[in-house]
Amino acid sequence: MKKKITIAIDGFSSTGKSTIAKLLAKKYNYIYVDTGAMYRAVTLYAKQNNFVGKDFLDKEELISSLKNVSLSFCFNADLGFAEMFLNGINVEKEIRTLEISQLVSKVSAISEVRKKLVAEQQIMGEDSGVVMDGRDIGTVVFPNADVKLYMTASADKRATRRYKELIDRGDKVDFKDILFNVEERDRIDSTREDSPLMKAADAIGFDNSDMGINEQLERICALVDRKL
Ligand code: C5P
Repeated sequence: MKKKITIAIDGFSSTGKSTIAKLLAKKYNYIYVDTGAMYRAVTLYAKQNNFVGKDFLDKEELISSLKNVSLSFCFNADLGFAEMFLNGINVEKEIRTLEISQLVSKVSAISEVRKKLVAEQQIMGEDSGVVMDGRDIGTVVFPNADVKLYMTASADKRATRRYKELIDRGDKVDFKDILFNVEERDRIDSTREDSPLMKAADAIGFDNSDMGINEQLERICALVDRKL
């Protein structure tokens, strides 16, 4: 039997990390963990409890309430991926709104939030056979991952992708707000003190601005197959 490995995919917002990660997980029969969904779910919890808003962040209250936040993924066979549950409630739709995207980078910069989620992610991936995507997977969560990818694409391409996703699900959004959010999140995520977004020294950079999904998958599978 082939050995199972850990695949870490990091990179800027809306670079198509999750699309690739889901396809890889399906092909190799691995677990897929969308760590962005976990930060989004904590942000939703913070918003519901009035710990975060457009112009405020009650860091202390959020930190002391983290013990009440229980996150889990539940596989949805119809969709072909695991949906995010916050305290037993399916929040997959609520966490993908532009409003949560506008708040999440403030929440994910809090070290106590990161400590809790990183510990949970390490447990989920401890048996290998996992594809995990996020911002710090190859640098912090699994620094010894077998394959590390670092995805980039132009801000315009990324905002176009995110805009289409939101419009397709019926949200009313302006392209310029999406573009601003994509760039703003990249700025906050790359400059925060704790676990900033950066390319691990041994990660393979992937600019997919002008690359279709099949070409990306083909190239990445060749890298993965070499490790198996
Ligand atoms: O991947 P996604 O765009 O859903 O991530 C939402 C946000 O969660 C990011 O902009 C970032 O602030 C945070 N995040 C993080 N570390 C991760 C995954 C996501 O800080 N591993």
